[in-house]
Amino acid sequence: MASEFDLIHRYFTRPAPSAILGVGDDAALIQPSPGMVLAVAADMLVAGRHFSYSDKAETVGHKSLAVNLSDMAAMGATPRWALLSLAIKDADEAWLQGFSEGFFALAQQFGVELIGGDTTSGPLNLSVQIMGEVPPGQALRRDGAQVGDEIWVSGTLGDAALGLANMQQRLVLTPAEAVACMAALHMPQPRVTLGLALRGMATAAIDISDGLLADLGHILERSNVAAEIEFDRLPASEIMRHHIENATAQQCLLAGGDDYELCFTVPAALHQKVSALSKKLDLPLTCIGSIKAGNELTLLKAGKYMLFTVKGFDHFA
Ligand code: ADP
Ligand code: MG
Repeated sequence: MASEFDLIHRYFTRPAPSAILGVGDDAALIQPSPGMVLAVAADMLVAGRHFSYSDKAETVGHKSLAVNLSDMAAMGATPRWALLSLAIKDADEAWLQGFSEGFFALAQQFGVELIGGDTTSGPLNLSVQIMGEVPPGQALRRDGAQVGDEIWVSGTLGDAALGLANMQQRLVLTPAEAVACMAALHMPQPRVTLGLALRGMATAAIDISDGLLADLGHILERSNVAAEIEFDRLPASEIMRHHIENATAQQCLLAGGDDYELCFTVPAALHQKVSALSKKLDLPLTCIGSIKAGNELTLLKAGKYMLFTVKGFDHFA
């Protein structure tokens, strides 16, 4: 049976040319680019809660890094280095092989180097730490939204939650719809390029991991402002539009988790610049409302208040 060190060597040791020292010592050594601030984040994925052991290992590897890249995107940081801590029950090498392929495919796409971690036996659990760089004063924080700013979101919302709802039989998708929504759930595409382009434009940003209402709520709270958004402007895929009269689908759109799109605020004067950016990146960017004085989140549908009781996902609620 392979030892812990065999496993690390086989599945998690890859060249890390930008690090002074990568995997294999007591600590990695890195030199941030001169004058840059480090942005550091961690995200944990627990089997049975964030993913299932029966999920394809490649998609688990992809998602474990994607959710961390999404945090870098939301900060406007260039992702550079990652650490991977994993507990795994047995040395299931087929699983480790798939996991590492999914992880490294995404790492390579964004130029991220794995420089260390920890490997132990135990109930399947993954934790990734990521480090990125951003020029001083240019990070996209949650606390900068100003009254009068527009509120924008990238991509479309709620498809991942539709996939989950279908799996849990809270809603019925066609087989083709289910395939597309499960892809959204398992293979989120972190909006790193968008985050970098928003430096100097966005006054605040967050990635939507717990649902639009909850995550926009975090911007409002940290920025001490209110917002008015319109249901009919929320970007919905064709699949979502097909089910939009369904209350569960509406809940997915407003408060479903796992979108990993960005929600950001920009001064209204930059409206055209954001539209141009959408074309340039070939990524839908949609203005869904604006920042107001106060501290409420107001949702309008056809000019009327739309009541919602749904909030985003909270592990301890
Ligand atoms: P230590 O006992 O000093 O903590 P370990 O024996 O746990 O070191 O790890 C040996 C080396 O392998 C270290 O450089 C560590 O960062 C790296 N490492 C361990 N697990 C992983 C992993 N899952 N992915 C990447 N690197 C890892
Ligand atoms: Mg040591």
